Amino acid sequence: MKYNSTTDKGIVVSASQAIAQGISTDGGLFVPMEIPQYSFSDIEAFTRLDYRGRAKKILADYLDDFTAEEIAECVDKAYTKEKFGGENPAPISYEKFGDIDMNILELWHGPTSAFKDMALQILPHLLTKSLKKTTDKEAVILVATSGDTGKAALEGFKDVDGTKIMVFYPVDGVSPMQKRQMTTQEGGNVAVCAIKGNFDDAQTGVKRIFTDSKLVKTLNDNGYLFSSANSINWGRLLPQIVYYFSAYADMVNAGKIKVGDKINVAVPTGNFGNILASYYAFRMGLPVNKFICASNSNNVLTDFIETGTYDKNRSFYATISPSMDILVSSNLERFLYHITDGDDALVKEWMTALKTTGAYTIDEQSKAKIESIFTGGFCSDEKTQEIIGEFFNKYGYLCDTHTAVAVSVYKDYAEKTGDKTPTIIDSTASPYKFSKAVLEAVASGEELPGDEFEMVDLLSKKTSTEVPAPLAALKSKQTRFDTVCAKEEMADFVLSTLGVK
Ligand SMILES: *Cc1c(COP(=O)(O)O)cnc(C)c1O
Repeated sequence: MKYNSTTDKGIVVSASQAIAQGISTDGGLFVPMEIPQYSFSDIEAFTRLDYRGRAKKILADYLDDFTAEEIAECVDKAYTKEKFGGENPAPISYEKFGDIDMNILELWHGPTSAFKDMALQILPHLLTKSLKKTTDKEAVILVATSGDTGKAALEGFKDVDGTKIMVFYPVDGVSPMQKRQMTTQEGGNVAVCAIKGNFDDAQTGVKRIFTDSKLVKTLNDNGYLFSSANSINWGRLLPQIVYYFSAYADMVNAGKIKVGDKINVAVPTGNFGNILASYYAFRMGLPVNKFICASNSNNVLTDFIETGTYDKNRSFYATISPSMDILVSSNLERFLYHITDGDDALVKEWMTALKTTGAYTIDEQSKAKIESIFTGGFCSDEKTQEIIGEFFNKYGYLCDTHTAVAVSVYKDYAEKTGDKTPTIIDSTASPYKFSKAVLEAVASGEELPGDEFEMVDLLSKKTSTEVPAPLAALKSKQTRFDTVCAKEEMADFVLSTLGVK
């Protein structure tokens, strides 16, 4: 199994190279050159395996330069009962919203209470094994974050041999809970630094470090190389395919569907990684009827699906579902590659237009193909809170602000179309990561405390739900990282953390 670049099929690499490199030398993203095909009897076999067993089969089919032992080691280290609070790291909660069935796939039972754990708990193991196959250096992972990714990467790479990780976040640009999660991070190979600036400054700073040839050489001379854990790495996308097959098998086992029945998936979308993983599952043989792509007020994808034009020249809104506040969904590039049956020249043309003008329009044929399986919708902050309030106060299920966007868009879709296909709705974060907005929604009109942990306690009392243990534990943890630096000082922070001159 080889991988090629979305914008140049001539660039071909192995699975471990794709993961070690992260992005292709021409700026394209790595995509598998063939997609493994599963029959209904292969899918049936998943019903007799646990999550880890399902993951081993799927990963093995994509990572053919890994041995079965290596894959087993990665999977067994990542998806433990301790880290995910139960045998199944991605359980389904079968709920009802009025007379609409909501099969909520809870992807946030990992150590940082967000769905990014599903990929970032295993990526460090895939990456270190990939690096071992391609280099003898120690990896220095740099991450710029607006919240969830930084913490999930820190937890994933914590004390993983052969890696060091440094995370930069905008000093005033993350939620109080997210800040606390990062500044109290444990582990001997981690460092966290706040930047005087916004998320873009942090991201630009990291990119500058990656491309500073003098700095890169200094690191190399000291036995290090820079690497990245961001969401365009194939090693982050691949583990996400697993939970779609796993959810399907769980629904069969629960008697909700029979093998071969079609399902819909509804996904709260930002960078298009999560929903793309479901599309890979479909291309592998998972019976999917519709992909429901849910956005918040930053509804660039809703417009794209409806019109065929992607246009990022628009207002940016800071919403109560911040992990979906994105105007350029990087993983869409992979989707376009597969929708056009691998037309690298066309993808390159569109991506070049995006870079130069901020917009592109796809051809009628590709648009029709997308329309036949995808539908998009979006939801305002006001509506998001209304849904959270109604879902909990009337029907007893508490969800976070991102999940509520998907619930709302799916509800609209089901009411409008009358489509009764059983639908998986991805739940991407614990409500306790966004306590303020969730509390306002379930206890509207009441006065709220100002302190984050008082809000967490109040939410728990009001809803009789449990605070995830890792979030509850933050209250009594010591702050380890209080460095705040100017954006020009990021390289110095890297060097001094490594003890390199
Ligand atoms: C990252 C994130 C998303 C968006 O996922 P994509 O794969 O980027 O589309 C949605 N919800 C939460 C809570 C997230 O952290």
